[in-house]
Amino acid sequence: MKNKQKKQTLFYPSELISSTYRIDFERLYAEGWRGIIFDIDNTLVPHGAPADERAIRLFRRLKKIGFECCLVSNNKKPRVEMFNKEIQVHMVWLAHKPLSAGYRKAIKEMGTQEHNTLVIGDQIFTDLWGGSFLGLKTILVLPINPKEEIQIVLKRILERPILWLYRHSQYYSNEHELPG
Ligand SMILES: [Mg+2]
Repeated sequence: MKNKQKKQTLFYPSELISSTYRIDFERLYAEGWRGIIFDIDNTLVPHGAPADERAIRLFRRLKKIGFECCLVSNNKKPRVEMFNKEIQVHMVWLAHKPLSAGYRKAIKEMGTQEHNTLVIGDQIFTDLWGGSFLGLKTILVLPINPKEEIQIVLKRILERPILWLYRHSQYYSNEHELPG
């Protein structure tokens, strides 16, 4: 049973939430979570952006709650440092996610444990797999920047088979009539 659960969490996030900024961090702390590993790009700010007011406020709140936080990015040192300038939390750059070394380093830096550390990111294969592999709780969020585009892409993918069925059905007409 335990193995089965582990297998499932490797492929699926523990939770899916629309935005990092909608996560109930107070509840997570009350549940016993103490360390948070954050992806930066599209998880906290649009790709390549510095920390904005919303991000600064979030980390102020997280520190007040009592969380240890670590930014874990595959990006280079200057990008991570630039984001962290007004945030001031732990950092791991060139993390080579989803390999687990970067996550282990983050846990060590934060002084937390695998059983009370969670991972938040916008990409299953990059951000979450490495965390799942170590048995960490993972939260998948929708990417900040191309949110609208992704919704459109998803809709188009979902639309495709429906349009195909429609075009091959008795309702379809070349005269662009709506099915009655
Ligand atoms: Mg990202």
